[in-house]
Amino acid sequence: MEKKIGPRARLWKPLLGKPGFVQCLVCERRCPIAPGSRGACGNYVNARSELRHLGYGRLSAIKSRPIEIKPLFHYWPNSTALTFSGGAATSTVHGARTTY
Ligand code: SF4
Repeated sequence: MEKKIGPRARLWKPLLGKPGFVQCLVCERRCPIAPGSRGACGNYVNARSELRHLGYGRLSAIKSRPIEIKPLFHYWPNSTALTFSGGAATSTVHGARTTY
């Protein structure tokens, strides 16, 4: 299924020396993205030399999870944390799904 192009991203810059390329600054990968291509996570696209969101505002999962599986050492034992994620392949990019 083709993703609808969303709003312009905030964290990017034109890639100097490569006309039309942009560099995503959202995470540590700092993907250089060719015109019409996506970053490694698949959640950003270079559309007309601007970085645009794909899947902006759409969730792939939302769930209340035990606090013990979160990287919150000894914080509020036996409670839960609201966990949600977007549609990007963050598990392959960062080693674990992003939790907010
Ligand atoms: S992996 Fe995605 S968020 Fe990270 S720099 Fe690349 S395009 Fe941006």
